[in-house]
Amino acid sequence: MDKNNTNQTRPPIVVVLGHVDHGKTTLLDAIRKTNVTAKEAGGITQKIGASVVETKEGKKITFIDTPGHAAFTKMRGRGAQVADIAVLVVAQDDGVKPQTKEALEIIKETGIPFIVAGTKSDVAGVSAEKLQGELEKEEVYFEGRGGNIPFVSVSARNSTGITELLEMLTLMADVAELKGDPNAPVEAVVIESGKDKMGSTATVVVRQGSIKVGEAVFAEELPCKVRALFDDKGKGIKEVTPGLPAGVFGFTDVPTVGATVLSMPHKGEEVEKKVRGTFDLRRLKDDEIPVIIKADNAGSLEAIIASLPPRIVVVGQGVGDVTASDIIDAKTGNAYVFVFEAKIPNDIVKLAEAEKIKVERFQIIYELLQKLDEILKKGQVIELGHAEVLASFPFDHKKVAGCKVIDGRLSKGDALIIKREDKEIGKGKATSLRKQKTEVASVGQSEEFGVIIDPQLDFQVGDIITSISK
Ligand code: GDP
Repeated sequence: MDKNNTNQTRPPIVVVLGHVDHGKTTLLDAIRKTNVTAKEAGGITQKIGASVVETKEGKKITFIDTPGHAAFTKMRGRGAQVADIAVLVVAQDDGVKPQTKEALEIIKETGIPFIVAGTKSDVAGVSAEKLQGELEKEEVYFEGRGGNIPFVSVSARNSTGITELLEMLTLMADVAELKGDPNAPVEAVVIESGKDKMGSTATVVVRQGSIKVGEAVFAEELPCKVRALFDDKGKGIKEVTPGLPAGVFGFTDVPTVGATVLSMPHKGEEVEKKVRGTFDLRRLKDDEIPVIIKADNAGSLEAIIASLPPRIVVVGQGVGDVTASDIIDAKTGNAYVFVFEAKIPNDIVKLAEAEKIKVERFQIIYELLQKLDEILKKGQVIELGHAEVLASFPFDHKKVAGCKVIDGRLSKGDALIIKREDKEIGKGKATSLRKQKTEVASVGQSEEFGVIIDPQLDFQVGDIITSISK
């Protein structure tokens, strides 16, 4: 066997078609209820336009949730093959109707195998044979009656025939030998799209390859750096493999229903650059810590960002309340969310808890910066900021160093190292920190300040003071 060939049997993608009011929606609901693996959704409960059902034998079937052929025609209109198998729903108490015929036309054009579900079998006086006879006039010939189209009589109301329908679908999938290679380039179809508070969203079904968080895909021309993926239960997932649906976040705009989603072309280094440009991607070094900073006003936000210690990398920032989008970004970027004064709505607190994102709110900038120091301290000795000594003057029998911050920040109580031409001349602690005549807790970039160091060190103009965490 070719070891590069990682083709695997994949779940079938099933679409339900039929006349209005013949019971498509109700049938899909009944099918979902049989789902033996249905669990409590955790995290971001995001309804997507497809559902996955697992049979008692552990076989998965993906149903496209938007019943009716309007949506299906739209998808097909863009040349995308979406479904592998169709279920033609015909109500036993109503028989063949105009949209039944239309649905049949579509199925024939697509050339996919189909099954007829004779619905509402519980209605008094109906007959499956009568319905089959009606359909035979439309050239649909059934198994056991000289043809090969499977027929299942179902009642969504009484939940009868559902298991048979699912069994028949898995059998048809086996016969069709549906394969997908999770390692192949991505090929998926957008079955639903829109915009919500998290930005542009799309539900896709994957036919080939795997869509992964952090990677880039295109819906036709529209780029997407996948920020988050959700399965049909609304659970965050890292990747989605062939035959399965997912909610995808990260499109720069709303993709068109029916658009084909492809991974980055192999030769497309330039395209990749374009995408990276679009998303301003920056690879973090191992010792860098990503944070998202939200503040209630632009002034505070600027002040915080200017005072951040080196190695703290801002991967997101903004003025205003924390949003679901911030939490998704934090999840994707493995970042902390630091909030100054801005609000964290209750549902966002819950969301952050579910997604295990650390969100901390501060009312004093200094405390926010101190918390960042703490995070940094949990490793080695970290340089929090540098300042240059510009002057030396006496005060209260002590020697004050008049300095200017080069980068990062210095705080009262910080451990300091003083260096002269890169050679350490002493260590101490900042016991007093003043701006003009006012005692301050912390100083940030470009600020001039006076510091008293304990013990008294013999510093000179031009020495560099480094604030370290220990
Ligand atoms: P759709 O337009 O094809 O999606 O049809 P719906 O699922 O909305 O169903 C249309 C109507 O038929 C609703 O009033 C349902 O309650 C009813 N219905 C659906 N399935 C059954 C069934 O199995 N038995 C009976 N008696 N009524 C059903």
